[in-house]
Amino acid sequence: MSITENLNQIKSEIPDYVDLVAVSKTKPAGDIQEAYDAGQRLFGENKARETEDKYDELPKDIAWHFIGHLQRNKVKYIAPFVELIHSLDSPRLAKEINKRAKNEERSIKCLLQLHISGEETKFGFDREEALEFLSSEKFSNMKNIEIAGAMGMALHTDDATILRKQFTELRKFYEELKSEFPAAKHLSMGMTNDYQVAIDEGSNMIRLGSSIFGERHYD
Ligand SMILES: *Cc1c(COP(=O)(O)O)cnc(C)c1O
Repeated sequence: MSITENLNQIKSEIPDYVDLVAVSKTKPAGDIQEAYDAGQRLFGENKARETEDKYDELPKDIAWHFIGHLQRNKVKYIAPFVELIHSLDSPRLAKEINKRAKNEERSIKCLLQLHISGEETKFGFDREEALEFLSSEKFSNMKNIEIAGAMGMALHTDDATILRKQFTELRKFYEELKSEFPAAKHLSMGMTNDYQVAIDEGSNMIRLGSSIFGERHYD
């Protein structure tokens, strides 16, 4: 199936309130243009320089979302234009995003990435760390970051019981967040492998790559 057919198929299956982020990392501009021509406007990338290059080359009404771990020394490349950073995963990164956003005289929307998969290696806050950070004085001085919701990645598994448990944990955190931050309206959870379960568990933003663009090839 083509990119256009994949997109149309997925959009016909998901509820209207769910935002679809087309994860175009590693894919060439031509693939993104095809999705754009099919009406897609939200794209997700996980390398800052690659995002900047694609931003320069492609139509300016694309909303670029940053979805992977963001190194602090790379924030500057995306700060002028990024629409949403899904992966705010530490206070030090927040400090840098705030600084770069201020330089650009803008505010940058961020999702707090919560660590839900139980794996040691995955980035993100624990619930307690996140709440502590949000109530800190440090954070209250970060005027150029807007907390726009929560994001998480479940364990890569087909076991729906595990997925539901991890997504439920994230949804509860999101509800807590929303009660404090009215602008926190996005719950970014669900990828190709698990988005149906994620939507069942309350997701309103899914990040799909391979089901739209096909398998990725890394060299
Ligand atoms: C690559 C990636 C995705 C998309 O993965 P697929 O399995 O191809 O849908 C979603 N979220 C994040 C954070 C990613 O890095």
